[in-house]
Amino acid sequence: MSALLDPRQRPLRDLRISVIDRCNFRCPYCMPVERFGGPSAFMPKGDWLRPDEIERIARAFVALGVRKLRLTGGEPLLRAELPEIVERLARIEGVEDLALTTNAVLLPKHAEILRRAGLKRLTISLDALDPDVFKRMSGGQGEVSEVFAGIAAAEAAGFARLKFNCVVQRGVNEDDVLSLAEHFRGTPHIVRFIEYMDVGTCNRWSRADVVDSAELLARIGEHWSLMPVGRSQPGEVAERYRYVDGGGEIGFISSVSAPFCGDCTRARVSADGEWFTCLFASRGVALRPLLGADDASLRAAIASRWSARADRYSELRAEREREAAARVEMFRMGG
Ligand code: SAM
Ligand code: SF4
Ligand code: SF4
Repeated sequence: MSALLDPRQRPLRDLRISVIDRCNFRCPYCMPVERFGGPSAFMPKGDWLRPDEIERIARAFVALGVRKLRLTGGEPLLRAELPEIVERLARIEGVEDLALTTNAVLLPKHAEILRRAGLKRLTISLDALDPDVFKRMSGGQGEVSEVFAGIAAAEAAGFARLKFNCVVQRGVNEDDVLSLAEHFRGTPHIVRFIEYMDVGTCNRWSRADVVDSAELLARIGEHWSLMPVGRSQPGEVAERYRYVDGGGEIGFISSVSAPFCGDCTRARVSADGEWFTCLFASRGVALRPLLGADDASLRAAIASRWSARADRYSELRAEREREAAARVEMFRMGG
């Protein structure tokens, strides 16, 4: 079967499946506590896709070309049926990678079960090593020591090469970047520094709060020589760098300063089955009503939407930024 392409020739390759919208953290850049105080802020549990529905949807996407599945949330380890979901996804033929993104706090309880269920890789979010900065970035909910207990559990369960996500915010954790890089130097693990993004409507994002990857690269490069490593596959979002002295690898995800929409092969399904073709989409496609139809109709609906996909939000944001920077002053143009 020829690859399913959108109008910009981007294949459908990656599917991120949210299994829950709730979380045990309240990171201000994602789920600020003032907006997400109690359970009423979240979808009713009865709306969550069941494990068999998740499997059916994943199978349809895999039949259309998806090769990488990632489970996420909210905090996916809070979903009681997670091991069953992993087991169901792990046995789908054609899936080359099955990963999960987590804040790691519940890994001591779950890492081994998930490994046995067939989970291949783990990405752990870790924004700071400093206990106070970490606590602030978790919205007062988490301790960095809990993340390290989770990391130890992941390693003990056989997740040998972990990825770490660190969202960098100006004036909040930018000074933790060096210590994070240093901490994981010489290990098989990879830290990726992520530019703070304007996702959703709640985090009061401002461009001034973003620390561009180029700046971080320069700061880290003052301490250790780095050389770029080519992207291992198209659609990979991180720009990878290797320490020249053999100390391992780090990455940068620069969706604000260097958008990668032209290469974006990702789709996302929310916990209640809404499918989005862009992280910044305002509308999705409700997949649950389509589950009443046969597999061919489900696949046809997905293919038809992907074939019309025009998303390039981050590129447009960058274009707007360039245009704004070039605007002529009124006193020069004449008021
Ligand atoms: N709760 C899990 C966790 O934090 O790893 C999984 C879900 S979380 C939404 C997935 C990733 O999105 C995390 O690594 C988080 O840091 C990142 N993220 C959330 N809000 C972000 C923002 N405004 N800008 C950049 N990354 C963000
Ligand atoms: Fe968002 Fe993940 Fe933080 Fe929870 S732990 S608030 S889902 S970034
Ligand atoms: Fe993909 Fe949308 Fe992000 Fe661009 S802005 S890389 S299209 S998810």
